[in-house]
Amino acid sequence: MADALRLFFLGTGAAVPSLRRALPTLAIAFPAETILCDCSEGSQQRLMSAGLSAARIRHILISHLHGDHIFGLPGLLTTQHLLDRREPMHIWGPVGLRLYLEGIASATGHRTRFEVHIHEWEEEETGEVQLERFSFSARRLEHSKPCYGFRICAHPRPGRFDSGEAERLDIPEGPLRRRLLDGESIALADGRRISPNQVVGRSRAGSCIAYCTDTRPCASGVELARGADVLLHDSTFGAELQSLAEETGHSTAAEAAMVARAAGVKRLFLWHLSGRIGEAEDQALLEQARALFPESHLPEDMTSWSLPLVREE
Ligand SMILES: [Zn+2]
Ligand SMILES: [Zn+2]
Repeated sequence: MADALRLFFLGTGAAVPSLRRALPTLAIAFPAETILCDCSEGSQQRLMSAGLSAARIRHILISHLHGDHIFGLPGLLTTQHLLDRREPMHIWGPVGLRLYLEGIASATGHRTRFEVHIHEWEEEETGEVQLERFSFSARRLEHSKPCYGFRICAHPRPGRFDSGEAERLDIPEGPLRRRLLDGESIALADGRRISPNQVVGRSRAGSCIAYCTDTRPCASGVELARGADVLLHDSTFGAELQSLAEETGHSTAAEAAMVARAAGVKRLFLWHLSGRIGEAEDQALLEQARALFPESHLPEDMTSWSLPLVREE
């Protein structure tokens, strides 16, 4: 798909890796850049298996500082150094991220040749952060440790220019058309005024992905996911382990489905699946979610999902 972004479910498990499910990491591949959400152990090889180059990663978003989400980070940075990376890397996450990375750097004496910018979040929410190819916002969720969910959106695109209509209105090619495309009204030589909405369609919103791992169902998760194209939500347990989900700050598949429904997302992927969920239990988990939100899916590791960069109208 041209002009698409693709989600790679590099690891869909939780806490303890199994042969079937690695620890949680999502790669979002834009045409010229890949974003990582969390970076669990083994992520480097999984990126390679998915045909993704770590050299194209410029931003890594870390949800929280539990080991199952971050133990791949130092290894990935070290490899990039050995491969002579020069491009800066930005790593975003809760307070403590700097201590973690600098502690490892100091214990091992390892420094990277490229710049590593660590951005720590102290507030409950970040507001919208605009970057070159996408924007994101992060909000505190409800977990046993400060944990953030993300909403990541491709940039909107301007509306399409209707050159047929421009011909009909006798608008000459060149700077006047450019100004209309930039949202300005223009005056033609014969005195007529043309406004942009006569020849330019409505701007098209970028696709949005919400990533809410390691959390109880909560209002912040719903806000992040509001109207999103895709939501990945903590679904650590099935309904029979509801009390364990509450004790450990996680969600059941049914709770994830309720968040998806409240937020009006297009599609839910159950995420952060406990090792207790064997192949035999998959179907039950999916049924519990689908009873509340029919567009629920249970991804296998190393599968992917494509969506257009901008929403089609
Ligand atoms: Zn976790
Ligand atoms: Zn956790």
